[in-house]
Amino acid sequence: MTKALDALSEILLMGPGPSMVNEAVYKAMGKHLVGHMDPEFIAVMDDIKGQLRQLCGTANEVTMPMSGTGSAGMETCYVNLVEHGDKVLVLHNGVFSGRMIDVATRLGAQVDVLEFPWGTPVLVPKVKEKLAGGKYAIVAVIHAETSTGVCNPVEEIGKLVREHGALYLVDGVTSLGGIEVALDRWGVDAFYSGTQKCLSCPPGLSPVSFSPRAIEKIKARKSKVPNWYLDMNMIMQYWEGANRTYHHTAPVSMNYALNAALALILDEGPEKVHARHKAMHDMFVKGVEALGFSMFVEKPYRLPMLNLVTCPAGVDEAALRKALRTKHNIEVGGGLGPLAGKVIRIGIMGETAREANVQRLLDALAKETGR
Ligand SMILES: *Cc1c(COP(=O)(O)O)cnc(C)c1O
Repeated sequence: MTKALDALSEILLMGPGPSMVNEAVYKAMGKHLVGHMDPEFIAVMDDIKGQLRQLCGTANEVTMPMSGTGSAGMETCYVNLVEHGDKVLVLHNGVFSGRMIDVATRLGAQVDVLEFPWGTPVLVPKVKEKLAGGKYAIVAVIHAETSTGVCNPVEEIGKLVREHGALYLVDGVTSLGGIEVALDRWGVDAFYSGTQKCLSCPPGLSPVSFSPRAIEKIKARKSKVPNWYLDMNMIMQYWEGANRTYHHTAPVSMNYALNAALALILDEGPEKVHARHKAMHDMFVKGVEALGFSMFVEKPYRLPMLNLVTCPAGVDEAALRKALRTKHNIEVGGGLGPLAGKVIRIGIMGETAREANVQRLLDALAKETGR
């Protein structure tokens, strides 16, 4: 070991990710390596694909983890689906939809943005109006906006996008494992997530899923996918079929971890896991409001797994976050972009969503604010 590693503390992770990791997942990660082309590893890969289909509510053949964090999933969806000049509509109400605008613009898409105030959801009638005024190849939205704590109405938007004929691209980095995701029922064509939020796995993989319509568009491209590493045409030859072709060396141990983390969720039952997130959110809101904090997002639009709070008068948010980390070994997040310095972001994701953890945070907040 090194001094730096020896110095690592055991932190209660209650920020916007990474979340707490179950011992079973650490154990899986520590298993001996096998080769990335070994039949035993291919069995792990195939198991992960089935688990992801189940958790994502999809029959999509092309459902697999990309090597890289959630951002690699975002990039994968855009580089594969966008061709130069394609019209893309981004529904924008936070940091992560802002990144989508950047990613799509870099690829030469004609990006149109429909903006909503931070802390409020995408409004379906406004989307309907916008779609009536133009023809889009892709419409994109963030399901669980981690920068604001808002849940966007992905199912209702999906109906409109389907009628319009565009491909529907949804970011589920923070939603998957914390609230329901039903890709087929919602008509989602391209989806990506990440491991370190509600899947409670260390960061490093990004599950993606593409509908048959999306795969058709990828196969019919006039130009090559402009990114070699994330080109689904080649990735599919490694992740599918009887004869696998080497593309890049899969992060073997990360896939062990994901396989174990997904098994924990599926064994507990996704509905029960979602209900546990909701129950822990309710417990947190009740406790934190009693301490004089207020919730930033209106009740109907709140995410259970990502909570934005504003501090009571006289409490400095940066000093409070620092005290939580140094005195109580609890990590929480600060505000992003225009919300920096204004809110604290509290993640109650995956393994973190347990009563003892929420109580420990509430006790620490009570102590630090003198309540
Ligand atoms: C965290 C997050 C991402 C980016 O994921 P990384 O793992 O940090 O690359 C993208 N979208 C949303 C909604 C996120 O919360």
